Amino acid sequence: MNEDQARDERTSGGVSPGPVRLRRLRFSPGMRALVKETDLLASDLIYPLFIRPGVGVKKPIVSMPGQFQWSPDTVVEEAAAAAELGVPAVILFGIPDFKDSCGSGNLDPDGPVPSATRALKKELPELVVMSDMCFCEYTEHGHCGAVNLAAEAHYRADLPEGYLLNDHTLELLGRASVVHASAGADVIAPSGMIDGMVGAIRAALDAAGQEHIAIMSYAAKFASAFYGPFRDAAESPPQFGDRAQYQMDPANWRQALREVELDVAEGADIVMVKPAMPYLDVIRAVRAACNLPLAAYQVSGEYSMIHAAAANGWLDLQGCALESLVGIRRAGADMIITYFAKDVARWLA
Ligand SMILES: [Zn+2]
Repeated sequence: MNEDQARDERTSGGVSPGPVRLRRLRFSPGMRALVKETDLLASDLIYPLFIRPGVGVKKPIVSMPGQFQWSPDTVVEEAAAAAELGVPAVILFGIPDFKDSCGSGNLDPDGPVPSATRALKKELPELVVMSDMCFCEYTEHGHCGAVNLAAEAHYRADLPEGYLLNDHTLELLGRASVVHASAGADVIAPSGMIDGMVGAIRAALDAAGQEHIAIMSYAAKFASAFYGPFRDAAESPPQFGDRAQYQMDPANWRQALREVELDVAEGADIVMVKPAMPYLDVIRAVRAACNLPLAAYQVSGEYSMIHAAAANGWLDLQGCALESLVGIRRAGADMIITYFAKDVARWLA
């Protein structure tokens, strides 16, 4: 003991606190439960479901173990099972039989998503049905809206060939949103990163007397390699080019805040960050900057890589799935779209 330490000892009455022992807070399950800062509940989860036309369809998606393409009749059973376990919401993606250059299948009131929505709301009126609103599943070129092609009526010689026609797409989004809301969708969720999409959809819904329908905007959606398995599932890869002209550069987080600000100003009710795990800092930043409810999308690649590693015996499926979701909640997401929704609800029950 040197002189300073001796003086400290005297002035503190000779009592040394010893090492800080945070392990006291982890000693028993009860203590750990008391100090837990973040919870993960079935009621935080949104279950994504793929709908194709037909009857009796339950087609496995090879790159997403445990996930299927459903028809409007079979999806009711799957959604009911999730709802029974406490999952409050589903989000629907359509896989139409026919595609064209402007995605007109998305305007069809008897298309897969409106048909499934009607079936779900009839059998499960309490279930929140969200409709993913984009054109990439409905266009033969796989882009998220109308594209500038010389053969098309809306061709503009002043814009580059292959350019996604923003404002023409806004009109289409508004019309399709009214169709999906008329079928019973509670939430329209525009996912195409088209400038002005939230405002255009809000205006179209309001003009159609659907002012009670909420908008959940894919506000900060990144051009991510983690979407790979989804493109198998939704049969919607772009046939030329990529989506980097409208989806965000993974390098940018300040721009994500601008995207969120604009969507809030246009009337979004919920904003989203997608994907989740590689963008936890963006979720945290949006949480700090914005008071709207915040959703995060744990995308297909995040799901499939945990499954693939588990299938090889390299990771524990349940442990990694739960930890990945708690991490997303801890970053600041109020709700999570995840293919694990039904499994997690069962594990938590
Ligand atoms: Zn799209």
